[in-house]
Amino acid sequence: MIDLRSDTVTIPTEAMREAMAYAPVGDDVYGEDPTINELQDYAADLLGKEAALFVPTGVMGNQICIALHTQTGDEVIVEGESHIFHYETSAPAIIAGVQLHCVPSPSGEMSEESIRRAIRPSDYYFPRTSLICLENTHNRHGGTLVGLDYIRQTAALARENNCAFHCDGARLWNASAATGIAPKDYAAEFDTLSVCLSKGLGAPVGSLIVGSSQHIHAARKWRKILGGGMRQAGILAAAGLHALKFHREALSGDHSHARDFAERLSNSPYIRINLESVQTNIVVFGFPSTIDTMEFIATCKQKGLLISQGRTGWMRAVFHFQVSEADAQAAAEIIVRTVEERML
Ligand SMILES: *Cc1c(COP(=O)(O)O)cnc(C)c1O
Repeated sequence: MIDLRSDTVTIPTEAMREAMAYAPVGDDVYGEDPTINELQDYAADLLGKEAALFVPTGVMGNQICIALHTQTGDEVIVEGESHIFHYETSAPAIIAGVQLHCVPSPSGEMSEESIRRAIRPSDYYFPRTSLICLENTHNRHGGTLVGLDYIRQTAALARENNCAFHCDGARLWNASAATGIAPKDYAAEFDTLSVCLSKGLGAPVGSLIVGSSQHIHAARKWRKILGGGMRQAGILAAAGLHALKFHREALSGDHSHARDFAERLSNSPYIRINLESVQTNIVVFGFPSTIDTMEFIATCKQKGLLISQGRTGWMRAVFHFQVSEADAQAAAEIIVRTVEERML
């Protein structure tokens, strides 16, 4: 079975399992797990920040950062297709007690003008805008890249308006692999970032928050409040450390497989695809409305291919290091043939 539903479906490699099995561990609530400490130091260094905190999931990472930067009743600016808005079960309303202000954009970069319009004036009856979030790469727009110049301009805008600046960098590693820009250069302008170890990097679980020592100190408290105090979780951190050290290199291979797959789909007159938006490991595509999406997904499954739905009306295929070049080609062939069987 070729599984292109997500880059979260990777299975730990033998080498990763070995690293996990022999990891030195301790009680992390006492700050005594050497492998967790090593992972946090490694990530902080890689992202050029003072400190890092290991958290179970990317959602918890984002939510802790939102809570750090806001007070109850504040407003947070997020992009209209953002993960924080769509896939985090309204957690900002529950945990930080804030409201999201969604700003639409074509590919993940909200225009300066639209952000300015979204920032509230200081009149007492408005919520206070205290945080601006970006997502890089941008999941629902199809793994699109958010540019470094754009990040710098938006950081300046945030500072000018006394807003904190957070990056949902679940796939920041993909952005770096695609552009050659170092993770720490992407990270420099943000107060905090949340990065995933369990997407294309292939760890079974885990994310990290990075930021100033002060922010990470407060983040540790928030993680505890959310029930995320960890004990001998060095077993898990070892997988993340292994992933950060040895799996980042494979990401550009995933990008070329995605590209190859996308180009094959674009050869079919029935498949809608914007090749310009295929920038990393995610491919978003559509087909004529006469094709029933659920039936299409079921047929592909019978033929040995798993794909999922993306944003409304679109399909999504995601590449990772356990999908080979041959798998990518076979997957494209299954999709093109399945579409054409329905159109001819
Ligand atoms: C996967 C993902 C997250 C975090 O998801 P978890 O499943 O909680 O690890 C956050 N943001 C984006 C853009 C993601 O793709």
